Amino acid sequence: MAAFEKILLKNMDMPDYSGSLKDYERAGGYRAIQNALGKTKPGDLIDIVKRSGLRGRGGAGFPTGVKWGFIPQDHPGPKYLCCNADESEPGTFKDRQLIERDPHQILEGIILACYAIGARTSYIYIRGEFALGAEILEKALDEAYKVGYLGTNILGAGFDLDVYVHRGAGAYICGEETALLESLEGKRGKPRTKPPFPAIAGLYGKPTVINNVETLANIPHIVNRGPEWFMSIGSPPKSPGTRVFSLSGHIARPGNYEVPMGITIREMLEDFGGGMSDGKQLKAIIPGGASASFLTSEHLDVKLDFEGIASAGSMLGSGAITFMNEGTCMVWAAERLLEFFHHESCGKCTPCREGSMWLLQILHRMEAGHGKHEDLDLLLKLCGNIAGQTVCAFGDAEIAPIVSTLQHFRHEYEAHIRDGCCPYRTEQAELVSTGSSQRH
Ligand code: SF4
Repeated sequence: MAAFEKILLKNMDMPDYSGSLKDYERAGGYRAIQNALGKTKPGDLIDIVKRSGLRGRGGAGFPTGVKWGFIPQDHPGPKYLCCNADESEPGTFKDRQLIERDPHQILEGIILACYAIGARTSYIYIRGEFALGAEILEKALDEAYKVGYLGTNILGAGFDLDVYVHRGAGAYICGEETALLESLEGKRGKPRTKPPFPAIAGLYGKPTVINNVETLANIPHIVNRGPEWFMSIGSPPKSPGTRVFSLSGHIARPGNYEVPMGITIREMLEDFGGGMSDGKQLKAIIPGGASASFLTSEHLDVKLDFEGIASAGSMLGSGAITFMNEGTCMVWAAERLLEFFHHESCGKCTPCREGSMWLLQILHRMEAGHGKHEDLDLLLKLCGNIAGQTVCAFGDAEIAPIVSTLQHFRHEYEAHIRDGCCPYRTEQAELVSTGSSQRH
């Protein structure tokens, strides 16, 4: 594919780049806050981000500037910005790399976001298992406070900001924005019923923006180089910019790769992932983390942008792409994913809590060779009773592996029922990574 310029992972390519404040400044870091704080009106900053077309990189893809614009500017009390660093979607490990290798890029994005929405306090909610990332962020905060990029009267612009790192306790659902807020407040992490939305009643009932790590890391670059520059990259107007994709599964070179949005899955697999490993054929693709519907080798020429993946029947989600080879049993793959979702269901609503258990029992039965012919209709009926019937999007996520594997690989389910075993599986391997690779 044509040459392109990395944005978010660029600094990491510099020789001896450590992610320290000194290195980040050497790479041009903190120029955006020097140019914006006290010199650009907060409303104008929101307008810049709106015009850039940046969309959230955490999963839902909501336009970032529009989200910021929902915060009432004249609200008399506190407002908050929460950085969602609870990266837990199976197969996703790009925020981890951004945190561990270039933490100041995220901090600068947080400062700009807080200035834009008028927040004086920000929390970075980081996945509990990311102990190293939390330590690195704490160190970066110390460095930023010492030189006056955080604290009172930042850069003499009359703007005060305190940022805190808050470690989660290991629940996947705390990546859902309202569960994250509950957890930050010291409660059990369960999603809230919406409305009200966080922009009106968020953390401690105050207007709050929740943005993903990668989303915030884009902000300094948009402020430095302008919204038109950002809009010219990738797949505008609806999917501008780059995306850091986490590649995993049966491929030669798993890892994180930053590319312009709109390249095809084939380019991603062959030019970056090094193709399938061990000369095996591609069978299935999960294009956006475990919550995304499966695609097949027939979808290799689908574009990796919000619209391209949606039109193929799945979603870009967290940007985690898992490739599975011909020796992977699709019933087993759906069962493994459902085990995860059943374990992580917060239990607040019945269709998700009970439905995931029933679905899992049926899949266990099939995998054990005791499937019944009526099980396939029963699976789909149960999924239909969960879809759209739950407090948060988790319900739709947990049925995606089952509905999509039944759509594309129904013959494998039928073979399990007919033969009492799987005629397709030649190997069984962990397919997704939660962050061991640092390649980019
Ligand atoms: Fe909890 Fe599942 Fe209901 Fe979401 S859908 S609130 S995770 S029980």
